[in-house]
Amino acid sequence: MEAPNGILRVKTAGYLDVPAFLDHVREYWIKTGKFTETHFKHEELRKEDSHWVWREQAFQNVVFCEGISGLQNPWMKQMNLENTKGQVLEVRIPELDTPHIMNKHIFVLPQGNSIFRIGATNEWIFDDLQPTEAGKTELMEKLEKILPGKMVEILRQEAGGRPTTTDRRPLMGALSETGLFVFNGLGSRGVLLVPYLAGCMCRYLMGDEEAIPEEGRLHRLKQK
Ligand SMILES: Cc1cc2nc3c(=O)[nH]c(=O)nc-3n(C[C@H](O)[C@H](O)[C@H](O)COP(=O)(O)OP(=O)(O)OC[C@H]3O[C@@H](n4cnc5c(N)ncnc54)[C@H](O)[C@@H]3O)c2cc1C
Repeated sequence: MEAPNGILRVKTAGYLDVPAFLDHVREYWIKTGKFTETHFKHEELRKEDSHWVWREQAFQNVVFCEGISGLQNPWMKQMNLENTKGQVLEVRIPELDTPHIMNKHIFVLPQGNSIFRIGATNEWIFDDLQPTEAGKTELMEKLEKILPGKMVEILRQEAGGRPTTTDRRPLMGALSETGLFVFNGLGSRGVLLVPYLAGCMCRYLMGDEEAIPEEGRLHRLKQK
């Protein structure tokens, strides 16, 4: 690895295989009979007396955890939510076989057998969430700076959207309509932050008004 100023090793670090994790969690919730997988349309949700009705089922509370789709949520029009595009590459680097994650402007994440995930770009202006040549070039140039002269074979390119906010803080709490809540704005660090923030959100929903960290509360938006 090209590192003229040396390398710092973080010993207690790792990564989460998000697709595998979500598959397990989905399987668990399906078994409990409490999980319905479907496309949710906001217009199907209506208020009746003190509760909300969706497809003939009544709910006391509804929490919107919809990532960048929150941009289309009619109850979230006053939020400072944005979509930041990110692209990643899956590559094979035959001369490199390391179990260590490298990080210098981009991450180089080992997948075994000399295959690595490389990422990610941060794009604020874009037409769609499709992978682009510009994204590929940016990542390959950054990779060349870390691992100069190495042969790299691109296996796959992917792109996605991050639910960011203009102040880079989460959006957590009660919306103006009683019984509607938001848990969004996790930006580029959702995987890292959610174990802590989901606990805060649960405690808040159970009645602990102080459970949401000050920086994530919605009232900051009204103060501007
Ligand atoms: C390229 C890239 C690299 C990243 N790297 C990292 C990283 O290294 N570390 C890190 O911590 N974070 C990383 N992130 C950020 C992380 O992925 C996000 O912060 C996190 O996914 C946000 O979680 P979320 O649940 O709010 O939104 P999402 O993960 O987008 O989940 C929202 C879910 O709601 C579903 N949904 C939305 N609308 C509807 C609807 N109407 N009906 C049914 N379902 C709906 C969507 O299908 C989706 O499954 C990265 C993101 C990108 C794009």
